[in-house]
Amino acid sequence: MTGTYRPATAILALGDEFYDPATPADFPQTILRYHDEDAAGALGLKLDDDDWVRHFGRFEALPDNLSEPLALRYHGHQFRQYNPEIGDGRGFLFAQLRDGGGRLLDLGTKGSGTTPYSRRGDGRLTLLGGVREVLATRYLEHLGVNTSKSFCLIETGEELTRGDEPSPTRSAVLTRLSHSHIRFGAFQRQAYFQNRDNLAALSDYCRTHFYPDTESVEGMFAQVVARSADSVASWMAAGFVHGVMNTDNMNITGETFDYGPYRFLPHFDPNFTAAYFDHQGLYAFGRQPEAMAWNLAQLAQSLSLIAEDQALIDAMDSFAPLYQAALNTHFLRRLQVESRGFDEDVTLVRAIFKFLLESQTPWPDAWHDWQGGAGRADTPQLHDYRGAAYDDWLELLKHHTPTGEKPDTERPASLLYDEIGALWEPIAADDDWSAFENKLKSFDRA
Ligand code: AMP
Ligand code: MG
Repeated sequence: MTGTYRPATAILALGDEFYDPATPADFPQTILRYHDEDAAGALGLKLDDDDWVRHFGRFEALPDNLSEPLALRYHGHQFRQYNPEIGDGRGFLFAQLRDGGGRLLDLGTKGSGTTPYSRRGDGRLTLLGGVREVLATRYLEHLGVNTSKSFCLIETGEELTRGDEPSPTRSAVLTRLSHSHIRFGAFQRQAYFQNRDNLAALSDYCRTHFYPDTESVEGMFAQVVARSADSVASWMAAGFVHGVMNTDNMNITGETFDYGPYRFLPHFDPNFTAAYFDHQGLYAFGRQPEAMAWNLAQLAQSLSLIAEDQALIDAMDSFAPLYQAALNTHFLRRLQVESRGFDEDVTLVRAIFKFLLESQTPWPDAWHDWQGGAGRADTPQLHDYRGAAYDDWLELLKHHTPTGEKPDTERPASLLYDEIGALWEPIAADDDWSAFENKLKSFDRA
């Protein structure tokens, strides 16, 4: 064991205006399909297969932890429409614990059954939905995105009906490990009820546990802006389209989570949209920074009940420069070259965008081919590497010193929509999980 198990039921201090007790569904089956043993070990949890199922399929409480799961209360803007009827409708907070560094972590579920917030939903998650979240978290982690982890995925033996999957379709329950499950929408809910005391209590909770080096709500908001700007910038470098950037899917810690109809870019297209129901392209690839800023403005609006307006406005004003700086950092990191200062980095980033737009080089290949700034001679994409935009970009790239790291993987790692379909097929047809497992291995560093 690497760590010691440290239960920490911090959420209870907030009191019962922030959550409702929830009862896990009694599933007909519980088959362990995926688990992150390293993550468990780091939390001091040594679990055999039966333990995984007992705690994360049957939801038997962890020792000295929450005695019952809690469905968290929140509201949110969904596609810019305020919805006061949401909340944890198919998930709950199951346990809280601290890692070796003392940071507070949540184990929360998706697909664990109905709650007071299920509305007309069944409270369930499809197995394909769970598989997609595991894949996204592992790939994004590989790409340097600050994401929740998939702690485990357990198939639950029910038949679900969904409009966006061939139905009946298989069911599962996913447990996530994340730095908080407090969404922007949790603040919006308190502001909606004009409850300043609860807003202050929620802010105190977040400051204490996630922003311990700030003493004010305003200071915390400034850091939320910085972390959110960094997150969305890391998506742009990853070619990740979240798909549903509603305020109820935005974590106060800036950690990316809640993976629904996300997609990864096949090639650069600012209008590329992930969710089939996003008819206006509101959350298209190129609009993600704007969507994040809009979400932060909603959070600011809520916090304005207990914070100084001007400080919140100043923090909002910091979003654009912070975003650009983070974009530089993440692009240079992916390219494995050194910075030459803000202005030159911006010029390089613009040149890459222009080149990728013009060449339409497959996104994962382009980054892989140019890691270290040298250009891979044996790439199948060689035919793309010509033309004015390419020449401009290469000229600028040459000025940046390689970091000297080795390429992150031997082949370009990717997770395109069709690839997910191809690895789901053998699972659906023959319960063959080898393609899924091989895909996860392809995200391991070379
Ligand atoms: P999501 O799109 O997963 O972020 O969910 C948006 C809201 O709808 C949240 O309040 C969810 O808890 C709820 N929800 C989504 N799917 C279901 C479902 N199958 N059953 C119950 N609630 C759901
Ligand atoms: Mg959600």
